[in-house]
Amino acid sequence: MAFERREILLILGVFCLMIRMMAFLAPIFATAIAVLTYFGMKSFVKWRKKQIRKAMGEGVCAVCGSRIADNQCPNCDVSKDSKAL
Ligand SMILES: [Zn+2]
Repeated sequence: MAFERREILLILGVFCLMIRMMAFLAPIFATAIAVLTYFGMKSFVKWRKKQIRKAMGEGVCAVCGSRIADNQCPNCDVSKDSKAL
């Protein structure tokens, strides 16, 4: 399993946090919080990547350039309706 550079930075950050917490917390609590923070960050990054990919996949409106949400343009849907009338 190859570690990404960001992964190493995350581990180092969590490790520093753990060392700092050990100053005023029991080592077992500091370690538990550090592990929770690590997995929390991992799942946040995964979720964020998914959100970004979703946003990129839907693209932008060819007419007004605003971001497509739920397969429709929030601006042009209104104007399409007014054109039809
Ligand atoms: Zn539009």
